[in-house]
Amino acid sequence: MEMALEEARAAGERGEVPIGAIVVLDGTVVGRSGNRTRELNDVTAHAEVAAIRMACETLGQERLTGADLYVSLEPCTMCAAAISFARIRRLYYGAEDPKGGAVESGVRFYAQPTCHHAPEVYSGLNETEAADILRTFFAGKREMS
Ligand SMILES: [Zn+2]
Repeated sequence: MEMALEEARAAGERGEVPIGAIVVLDGTVVGRSGNRTRELNDVTAHAEVAAIRMACETLGQERLTGADLYVSLEPCTMCAAAISFARIRRLYYGAEDPKGGAVESGVRFYAQPTCHHAPEVYSGLNETEAADILRTFFAGKREMS
């Protein structure tokens, strides 16, 4: 989780919304990324999707069966779906996101009958720190404008 927070901070320093994600398989980090939507001009380049892409490329496979994903913020609907499609075993996240989340908030993607693989979910890891990174970032944005 510390590494996910590092990726979040690094994303913030690049001017991206500070969210970070890590994919771990058998104790090895196989994917890590922060948000890259601005850098790549790609609305799908959320930290979770970018980390999953990197892990799939590293391993040369389409699915990440048995891998765990750590992310600083509750995943959105798109990322919750990507995590499901990648067959992630466990999802660990930090802060909840009542406005944009899709795991325990919003559409509760994994509880839907159309979801065919749900990871085990562990929320609230380093929750305060994860939320502070976002709060500080957006407070800074408001001051600048
Ligand atoms: Zn997302």
